[in-house]
Amino acid sequence: MSERILLSSPHMGGNEQKYINEAFETNWIAPLGTNVDGFENELAEYVGIQGAAAVSAGTAAIDLALNLLGVGAGDTVFCSTLTFIASANPIMYRGATPVFIDSEWDTWNMSPQALERAFMDVAADGKLPKAVVIVNLYGQSAKMDELMEICNRYDVAVVEDAAESLGSTYKGKKSGTFGKYGIYSFNGNKIITTSGGGMLVSDDVDALKQARFLATQARDAAKHYQHSVIGYNYRLSNVLAGIGRGQLEVLDERIAQKRAIFERYENTLGSIDGVTFMPELEDTFSNRWLSVIQLDPAKIAIALYDVIDALNDENIEARPVWKPLHLQPVFEGCKFYAQGEGKAVSEILFEQGICLPSDSKMTVEQQQRVIDVLMKNLG
Ligand SMILES: *Cc1c(COP(=O)(O)O)cnc(C)c1O
Repeated sequence: MSERILLSSPHMGGNEQKYINEAFETNWIAPLGTNVDGFENELAEYVGIQGAAAVSAGTAAIDLALNLLGVGAGDTVFCSTLTFIASANPIMYRGATPVFIDSEWDTWNMSPQALERAFMDVAADGKLPKAVVIVNLYGQSAKMDELMEICNRYDVAVVEDAAESLGSTYKGKKSGTFGKYGIYSFNGNKIITTSGGGMLVSDDVDALKQARFLATQARDAAKHYQHSVIGYNYRLSNVLAGIGRGQLEVLDERIAQKRAIFERYENTLGSIDGVTFMPELEDTFSNRWLSVIQLDPAKIAIALYDVIDALNDENIEARPVWKPLHLQPVFEGCKFYAQGEGKAVSEILFEQGICLPSDSKMTVEQQQRVIDVLMKNLG
């Protein structure tokens, strides 16, 4: 059997080991240290924001953002429905209630129309959400101008979940820098990885100071151990931050590789009637973390799960698009606002979308193997 081809796996650049060695040589294994400071500063500079706080996971970064925004029991938080569950789990950690917002066709991300209707609905009851979590799916930025205009009009803060869109841009500005807070993930499958880790970014450096305080068990300034609020153990290790510094050096190279993979799929599979690709909205630049196709069941005879099985039989990993959160058993009963009449856009994408192998280490020959299987089954 030929080597397994993966969706997205860790791809080291070479300098990661150098930064790890520095941590070892200075015994800055823990706590924190120069790699954490360096990683924060280098990432903040890369995305063009005032500051960054390195944490143990993207999920932890979302939790801190909601905490800083005062989200608590009895509050509601609006959240994109078409996403990984980690976008919404912190809403539950805080004891708040999520309200899910559908996607639109131009970006597959949060629909401004659905968001507007959700706001009008709750404003009529006089109960606005405490925050809006906007996700940028598979590297593609959401329609940030339209979404921010609505949130600003209602004076509700935005947390931008850019876990999948590091390095992408919207009208020339880096994804993750539009809301009050942005978050990135360095989980093993993301475009760059620290094996596990995340980053909270903001132009509010005082808020980031508070985030670091909360992320290190909220120790008051005293000689003894004193605590006035409940904190968390959410900081990133100095060793792992060293991996992040090395990875950041090759991020633009990874984006170029991911985009080349997407182009090869588009140039080959694009000729099949019934196959379309995740769009790239005008004036945006996607890191193409994952290449995603949509199969029109009226034109493609084979069922989606049979395509995934056919790939798997050839030792190729492929997956459906995220199952919308409003369809998840754990969120049963939560409110959902669809884009329009009829079936929700996110539900159609879940039924028709496939994430294809987009591993930046994948060779052209390996990708040809994927294309051959798809040509045979879809054509
Ligand atoms: C990966 C991911 C997260 C969570 O990041 P972790 O670092 O794994 O906690 C959050 N949101 C989205 C959209 C993700 O893809």
